[in-house]
Amino acid sequence: MKLNEFHTDTIIEPFRIRSVEPIRFTTMEERTQLLKKAHYNPFLLKGRDVLIDLLTDSGTGAMSSQQWSGMIASDESYAGSSSFYRLESAVKDITGFKHLIPTHQGRAAENILFTTIAGKGDVIPSNTHFDTTRAHVEHAGAEARDLVIEEGKQPRTQHPFKGNMDLGKLEETIKEVGSDRIPVIMITVTNNSGGGQPVSMENIRSVSEIAQEYGIPFFIDACRFAENAWFIKSREKGFEEKSTIDIARQMFSYADGCTMSAKKDGMANIGGFLALNSDELASECRNLEILTEGFPTYGGMAGYDMEAVARGLYEALDEDYLRYRIRSIAYLGDKLTEAGIPIVQPTGGHAVYIDAKEMLSHIPPTQYPAWSFNNALYLLGGIRGVEIGTVMFGKQPDGTEKAASMELVRLAFPRRVYTQSHVDYLAEVIINAYKQRKKLRGYKIVDGPDVLRHFSAKLEPIED
Ligand SMILES: *Cc1c(COP(=O)(O)O)cnc(C)c1O
Repeated sequence: MKLNEFHTDTIIEPFRIRSVEPIRFTTMEERTQLLKKAHYNPFLLKGRDVLIDLLTDSGTGAMSSQQWSGMIASDESYAGSSSFYRLESAVKDITGFKHLIPTHQGRAAENILFTTIAGKGDVIPSNTHFDTTRAHVEHAGAEARDLVIEEGKQPRTQHPFKGNMDLGKLEETIKEVGSDRIPVIMITVTNNSGGGQPVSMENIRSVSEIAQEYGIPFFIDACRFAENAWFIKSREKGFEEKSTIDIARQMFSYADGCTMSAKKDGMANIGGFLALNSDELASECRNLEILTEGFPTYGGMAGYDMEAVARGLYEALDEDYLRYRIRSIAYLGDKLTEAGIPIVQPTGGHAVYIDAKEMLSHIPPTQYPAWSFNNALYLLGGIRGVEIGTVMFGKQPDGTEKAASMELVRLAFPRRVYTQSHVDYLAEVIINAYKQRKKLRGYKIVDGPDVLRHFSAKLEPIED
């Protein structure tokens, strides 16, 4: 008798684990001491004192046996390394761009691009500039303008593509500023700073048409291009049957170039690149690359890094992997939502964002409710996330403090590192912290720098 085929609801990790890194269990008493010693700032904790580390998904992923084997066989020639040509062929195959300029990470590609094309008085529109992108635009003397759709700014609103650019605002900006003062239009896929929210193919195409109409180059910030391709496949009409690699190729076909951090969808621990079509711009960028990164056939990466990225770009597009990745994040989101915990909806490509503002309404923003909740997750379960709230954004240039618009705890997932039981554990700890939320207290900063203070500030809990 022939059995009926059936489809399981369980989405399993699409790999088996052949090399393990033990994680260290600590008691709550130990963690209380460790957090105190770290001045109540999780950035100052040692990695070995963290059980589940969700500080960032940047460069923290696990590499595959294919990547490691390529790394052993790398070519470390200073000029003309075959590892470079392997990376170039992968980048050309996926993006279609003519020139590859390797860099040590994403921000170095941004530095080269914006130093070359932008200057004082210029405006660079994007859906949302990532913080390093904004910093490099401003460092070049230009203005970074965020033009994401309204839905993208509302944490509770459901929308399949909350990372989309507001096309009306883009055209208004071009008319107001003049196309000669806009050296490039950028779009970030997925929109990292907006919660890892995707951009639709239709939106990318429309932005490209507007850019062409006004004769402005169009670049993609491609750090999470594979996750974006998956969202297009699963949410946009007409793409259900297309492969993620073809979707990625189509996304890039509308652009003149991209910046990339290989620490994200390059599936590597370090690396990045700038890729583009213009011969003239490529040659200018290479001159700066030699000055700041290195010779154009390695530009800040070892041969083995380029091997890891050349393979990683394809592995990031693997559909079984993407299904597992996006599902792991949605799975945690579902569990928290079921327990009544407010999160940014819908869950994005790389992280769950817990909204601590209402849940800890007894802690005013200037006493850092999201910071407090994040520290509670460490004390209760050894989990490290990151506050995206008033500690990160509250300090004003004039030295005063202003409440940030949101108080979020971001839990970013390293790629291929944690399994479903880790996620079940996370949910348990977060729900337990939520149940005890009335006992949580605010914090005050006792010492810290004025810029980027969250990295090194020293804090103390505020007692009743
Ligand atoms: C991480 C990231 C960058 C910067 O890349 P680094 O490798 O950290 O320098 C730029 N844009 C986006 C969207 C990112 O996620």
